[in-house]
Amino acid sequence: HAKTSGKGRYTIFNSQMKSQLLQRVRLENDLRQALANQELGIRYQPIVALASRRVVGFEALMQWHHPTEGIIAPDRFIPLAEELGLIQDLDLWILRQACAQLQRWRDDFPDCGPLTVSVNFSGKIFSHAHCFETITQIFKETQLPPSALVIEITESILIEHSEAAEQLLENLKCLGVEIHLDDFGTGYSSLSYLHHFPIDALKIDRSFVDILSQDEQHSFLISTIVTLAHAMDLPAIAEGIETQDQYDMIQALGCDLGQGYLFHRPQSPAQISALLRSLTPATE
Ligand code: C2E
Ligand code: MG
Ligand code: MG
Ligand code: MG
Repeated sequence: HAKTSGKGRYTIFNSQMKSQLLQRVRLENDLRQALANQELGIRYQPIVALASRRVVGFEALMQWHHPTEGIIAPDRFIPLAEELGLIQDLDLWILRQACAQLQRWRDDFPDCGPLTVSVNFSGKIFSHAHCFETITQIFKETQLPPSALVIEITESILIEHSEAAEQLLENLKCLGVEIHLDDFGTGYSSLSYLHHFPIDALKIDRSFVDILSQDEQHSFLISTIVTLAHAMDLPAIAEGIETQDQYDMIQALGCDLGQGYLFHRPQSPAQISALLRSLTPATE
């Protein structure tokens, strides 16, 4: 052990770094196996029409059931999966599951209207060689009409402005898939790229909804995004609505759709089935 306090601190820092590194290496190795070991799960969070609170669709959110660490949230492993080059497989896996699941719900609950499912795509997916073929194959397999699928992408994809991304999005759009711009307002706020891409909705980031509760003055941020969306003839979707106050304000600002704990938390497929059953008018 080191004798001086200076050296001692160095040693502690070092061993902390070492254990962090070890944990990371372990997590990396585990993540490589997670898909094959069937440790990945999906939760579905309902998206509602703000005026009526009617469920119009679901966002599919990935979850990792780690054998010893328990449930790991996507913010902890998605960046890792991107670095390791695993994200394309994960995103296409969740896409296939989500399309199949939504088609079952549409079959089982026809009275619930034309439900949609939203899947998050990492920017890395656009460098996947057979991405479009795989997606069309998934529609064939699952029988889901492409118009029931929403792909959520973030601004960073647009800023990178790759030919591949633009082409894939155009191709998906031609099939009838909707493209929603996620976490809108948190990226670099150059608006010049917006017209290059076939965007169908703007999703207002949770952070703008959060600050509403601290100070009503902040509502101009949301109202600006809603105005921008409507000027482009697009709906605006607010995420992270937790309180009635936020709901009231956001609705007053003209936002069209919403998502948040106030309405529904992300839930297991079985829980969503129960929800849809409860929304279906009972027939004698
Ligand atoms: P996101 O796409 O913006 O998803 C919304 C996040 O907000 C989800 O967190 C959701 O659980 C959370 N949320 C929804 N309503 C509320 C609320 O009222 N209050 C609070 N505090 N949170 C709420 P989650 O599941 O932890 O996902 C985090 C991010 O990870 C997602 O943000 C998305 O960027 C990414 N992600 C999740 N699943 C996937 C996936 O399958 N593929 C990729 N590439 N990224 C994913
Ligand atoms: Mg999203
Ligand atoms: Mg979002
Ligand atoms: Mg967000």
